[in-house]
Amino acid sequence: MNTFETGTYRPPMHSFSLLLRVTENCPWNKCNFCMLYRGYQFKTRPLEDVLNDIDSMASIKERILSHTDSEGNFDMPAINQEYFSLRTDKERECYAMVFNWAANGNMEAIFLQDGNTMVLRTDKLLKIVERIKEKFPELNIIASYGRADSLCSKSPDELKALKNAGLNMIHSGFETCCNETLNVINKGFTAEQELEAGLKLKDAGITINLFYMPGNGGEALTEKNAADSARVMKKINPEYIRIRTFMMKEGSPLYAMNSAGTFRNMTEDGKVKELRSFIDMLDGCTSYVISDHIINLLPYVEGYIDKSRKGILDYIDEYLALDSTDKKRFQLARRIYYINHWNDLDSLNASQLSNIDYMIKNVPDGAPWEKLILSYASKLI
Ligand code: SF4
Repeated sequence: MNTFETGTYRPPMHSFSLLLRVTENCPWNKCNFCMLYRGYQFKTRPLEDVLNDIDSMASIKERILSHTDSEGNFDMPAINQEYFSLRTDKERECYAMVFNWAANGNMEAIFLQDGNTMVLRTDKLLKIVERIKEKFPELNIIASYGRADSLCSKSPDELKALKNAGLNMIHSGFETCCNETLNVINKGFTAEQELEAGLKLKDAGITINLFYMPGNGGEALTEKNAADSARVMKKINPEYIRIRTFMMKEGSPLYAMNSAGTFRNMTEDGKVKELRSFIDMLDGCTSYVISDHIINLLPYVEGYIDKSRKGILDYIDEYLALDSTDKKRFQLARRIYYINHWNDLDSLNASQLSNIDYMIKNVPDGAPWEKLILSYASKLI
C-alpha cells in the first residue's frame, strides 16, 4: 500500500484532519519560547514527492470508502481486516489517519505541515493546493500555518489566487502584537507586519486564526502585551482568536533569561489577569475567542466577543475570586488529572485529592509553588 509523510505538530482543531507534510520543521526556528523544531533543519520537500503523497492519500481514501454501504456506514470488520493486513507501521499509521478523517472528521479538512508552509513560492503552493482539490473535492478546509512575515511577502493577488485554488484557512502564531514582547520572544516580525498580514488575509477572504499567548512578555510587559495585542487584533477582527498561554519550557532561551533575571516569568494568576485584560479590551470586535489547548488553565474562555464577552469575563472573575486553597487545588488538578472546572474537584477520588492537598501543604507559596505548576504544565506542550 502507498504511504505518505506526516509531521508531528498541528493545531488542536486539526486532530481529525488529514496531515500533509509539505515542508519539514520551521524556517525561522528562533522564537525564544519554542522548542518544537530546535535542532532540526528546515527543508522544503520536492514538489513531486508532495504530489505523490496526495495521490497516496487519495488511493487510501478510495479503499476505505469502498467499505461503506449506500448510507455511508463503515463495514468495520472489513476495515479492521484491511488495517491488520497491512505490512508496516507506516502503512497502518497512514490508513488510520485517513480513516479517522473519514469517520470522525466528516472529511472536513486537510492541514499542510510543518511550521510555516506559507514560506513556499506561490506557484509551488498552488500546484499542491490544486492537486488536493482535484483528489479531495469533498474538503471544506485547506489550512496551513503562516508566519506574518511570510504572509506579508505574498502580494494580494497571490493570496487571492491561493484562496481561489482552495487554501482557505491560515493559523498564525502572532502570540502578541506588542513590539516589545515580540522582541523579547524573538518572533522575527513586528506588530505592523502582523497588521498588514491580517488585513491582507481578510482582503483575500481567507479565514484567520490568530494565537494570543498571555504571559509571554513576562511581568514587565503584561499590561502592554494585553493592550497592544487587543488593539491590533481588533483592527484585524479575525474569525478566531485562539488562546495559547505562555509556559516556560526548560532548555528554551526564555528559561535561561528567567534564570539570569532578564525575564520575569508570570504566575498562573498573573497570566489569567492578563487574559482578562485582553478579553476586556477586545470590546467592539466580533471574533470567536477560544481556549482550545490543554495548556490553558481556563478552558471555558469561549464565544463570540460581541455576544459572550461579559460571560467570559464573569467566568474568569469567578476563578480569580476562589480562595487560595481552592485555586491551588484547581491549578494542580487541571494539570495532573485534566479536570476542566473547579466544580469538577468533587469528581476526584479520595487519593487524588489527598495527593493534591499533600502538595499544597508541603510546597511553599510563591516561586516553589509556581515551579511545581510549571513542572506539570510544561509536560503538556
Ligand atoms: S515560528 Fe512557530 S514553529 Fe517557528 S520557532 Fe516560532 S513558534 Fe516555533
